[in-house]
Amino acid sequence: MAEVILKNVKKVYEDSGVLALSDFNINIRDKEFVVLVGPSGCGKSTTLRMIAGLDEITEGSIYIDGVLVNKVPPKDRDIAMVFQDYALYPHMTVYDNIAYGLKLRKYPKRVIDEKVREAAKILDIEDLLKRKPKALSGGQRQRVAIGRAIVRTPKVFLMDEPLSNLDAKLRNQMRAEILKLRKKMQTTFVYVTHDQTEAMTLGDRIVILKDGITQQIGAPKEVFSNPANIFVAGFIGTPQMNFFKGRLVKRDRYYIATMDREIALSDERQAFLRGKNTPPQDITIGVRPEHMNVSKSETYSGGTIDVVEMMGSSIYIHFNFMGNSAIALARDKDVDLSEFKAGNKVLFDFNEENIHIFDEEGLNLEYELHEEEFLPEIDNTEEKNEEETEENPNPKETFEDEEARYKKSGEKEKHSFIDYIMSKKNPPKDE
Ligand code: ADP
Repeated sequence: MAEVILKNVKKVYEDSGVLALSDFNINIRDKEFVVLVGPSGCGKSTTLRMIAGLDEITEGSIYIDGVLVNKVPPKDRDIAMVFQDYALYPHMTVYDNIAYGLKLRKYPKRVIDEKVREAAKILDIEDLLKRKPKALSGGQRQRVAIGRAIVRTPKVFLMDEPLSNLDAKLRNQMRAEILKLRKKMQTTFVYVTHDQTEAMTLGDRIVILKDGITQQIGAPKEVFSNPANIFVAGFIGTPQMNFFKGRLVKRDRYYIATMDREIALSDERQAFLRGKNTPPQDITIGVRPEHMNVSKSETYSGGTIDVVEMMGSSIYIHFNFMGNSAIALARDKDVDLSEFKAGNKVLFDFNEENIHIFDEEGLNLEYELHEEEFLPEIDNTEEKNEEETEENPNPKETFEDEEARYKKSGEKEKHSFIDYIMSKKNPPKDE
């Protein structure tokens, strides 16, 4: 059981005065896989290093497994960390590299042997135990580095861009390995990457950061289909979402005017915008390349194709229309791909339900319309079999339920929410 809670965590590097992370909040559940993603310098590594205890936090609280760890040194936090630049000891065998940390901690030989062999089995490197690092491929070395971390069966596993030194093919392979590892290990993972594909494929939830500020936290599907703002919309999904300038028009109903067309919004969207009394305004609309419907233009109208990227059974058509550059994905099951060539014209449209609307500040105008109050289910057999017990009369109860009860209970006057939670989970022991 290792929840990781970050409450109002802030980091300012004193020497440079850089605000690396501002007011960061998350409740990472036991055995959850959370990915921190964002462009370089957005504060991902800083956040991970603060969970590990390698960087001090400037303000706020971090709890691991119910214990406030702000002042707990890294070695006592029961975490393991794998970095991008993992260094194996070149003169030691794989076995000794994996065993090293346990030897330092003076574990009995028999226990070390058991743990090393178990880790090697999980990572499928049992037949490499006698080799030295120089006789291993990049992927195998990375597995040894992970092995070194997992033998300690940590409560929390922190990974900082562990795959970014590998080539594309190996990275895909290791991504699948990490998914398997996660199933076998049943521990809490916090994983840092700048690669949105890695984030989307690995995370139960993704935290998207920019300039130290949380942009959105949600399941991959959620951040993809309901991005909170233009930054998230553009960052998640590849190729990037297309953006077009437009205007939200209000007559009897709401319409979107963009380029040469006007699009009526659905009844659900009308009701939402009306309910919020949204005024007419300049907007940016977003449409993903896979949601652009294309057809061959028989006349001179339409967008002009710049480039066609062949992907096998589909193509990306890069085109220009009324001063906008856009990309459309066309599949050979829908259209004849050979009809789209550079210099030709292309007609395009998109379905109303696939349009995202952003206001002038870049915020998703309808974010709350689709916002789901949900935590993804964690693939965890133990938890699925969880039965009602006296200690936990309602296993499905969420942190949010608890927070609602706290607000009602009048405890607010006496304790902060975290103290309230902690006092319940870890009742103070008699001295
Ligand atoms: P990321 O992991 O997202 O690339 P970091 O967490 O490493 O970003 O850095 C966040 C910000 O903090 C950046 O502006 C970076 O330059 C700054 N920073 C990181 N480490 C230090 C440090 N040791 N001293 C001063 N500034 C730092």
